[in-house]
Amino acid sequence: MKILVQKFGGTSVSTHERRLLVVDKIVKAVEEGYTPVIVVSAMGRKGEPYATDTLLSLISEKFKETNPLAADLLMSCGETISTVVMSDELSKAGIKAIPLTGGQAGIITNDNYNNASVLRVDNTNLMSILKLKEIPVVAGFQGQSESGFITTLGRGGSDVTASLLGVALNADEIHIYTDVDGIMTADPRIVPEASLIKEMSYNEVFQFADQGAKVIHPRAVDIAMRGNIPLVIKNTLSNCEGTVINSVGAMNIENIMTGITHMGNRVQIRVSLLDNIDNKNSDNLLEILAENMISIDLINVFPKESIFTIDSKDMNKFEQIMQSLGIKYSFISSCSKIALIGSRIRGVPGVMARILKALTKANIEVLQTADSHTTIWCLVESNNTQSAIAALHKEFNLG
Ligand code: ADP
Ligand code: MG
Repeated sequence: MKILVQKFGGTSVSTHERRLLVVDKIVKAVEEGYTPVIVVSAMGRKGEPYATDTLLSLISEKFKETNPLAADLLMSCGETISTVVMSDELSKAGIKAIPLTGGQAGIITNDNYNNASVLRVDNTNLMSILKLKEIPVVAGFQGQSESGFITTLGRGGSDVTASLLGVALNADEIHIYTDVDGIMTADPRIVPEASLIKEMSYNEVFQFADQGAKVIHPRAVDIAMRGNIPLVIKNTLSNCEGTVINSVGAMNIENIMTGITHMGNRVQIRVSLLDNIDNKNSDNLLEILAENMISIDLINVFPKESIFTIDSKDMNKFEQIMQSLGIKYSFISSCSKIALIGSRIRGVPGVMARILKALTKANIEVLQTADSHTTIWCLVESNNTQSAIAALHKEFNLG
């Protein structure tokens, strides 16, 4: 049996017309001799009636926070609805489809609601369906705890479902269908001239996903990599070959940069020694933040000053801690961390100089930089995100 996992994202299943395109992709897989296993997200994006955020808006913030079990049950409904609607579309096309919740598809998690970890995948139900030549349509993003409660796997979790099932069924490939042709050199909504990257290694894609390219969930990449199952990112709306992801990636690439991603909602914090000269607490600041589960990055510690960034969702907590410890600080609230990714950055002289020059020429102030073997980060104010990415995209000829 040549199993193919096909995952369709929210925009792919949002309307009847689009679901017909999904049916076409599934029929084509069958014609090519594959045994498809389908994973679907909730229909549509924020604002549309069955999208996850719309469902969540039905309950109060307080109830959500104090009843995570109930919130997960509500959030899982979008995918559950989608799996039944998609099964109906398939049956209208004469294909016998069986809708399944994540739990029914064998995804067993811990009870860390909202962001559950998967303990194991039991493929018994799926295998029996496949043996009957029927097509399982699995609700993405959800699992079931050992005690039988519905859990969710975190935002973008349907990608994770696809990879989990791909590995559990030893699939030939996992295809992630979305609304763009594949992984591009930048988010095409930000840089319209972004180009498709045809081949990438798991490591490169993981880096992209981890640094904010939401086209695929980083955990989905990691799971597929561990199972060594090729991942392909494709467009439901076109017949483009997409981006093929495996352990090798692309050979003979000339460009030193592969692509550019960004993460918004960063706050840059500065704590100066001079302002806190009599305050011993400030010496242990990083430790204190870690104890309070505030994660920080772009950390620069100088003799007279420490600079770092935090996620804006942690800012309230951060302010409270600083106040209680009497630590003085300054901050720039809306920043964006731009990541330039390329496995050949290492050892190429002058890359940072080129970046800074391109940004200066575009009148963009760089608040901070950092680099690793494969990535260079620049922090800019959020209102400069688009122009900074466009300038860098052009500088490194990624279009
Ligand atoms: P789905 O609902 O199918 O899971 P997502 O919205 O999660 O779709 O992901 C697809 C979106 O990811 C695209 O519409 C695109 O705007 C965005 N995106 C961000 N960075 C990239 C990139 N480097 N390449 C392609 N798409 C990207
Ligand atoms: Mg997604």
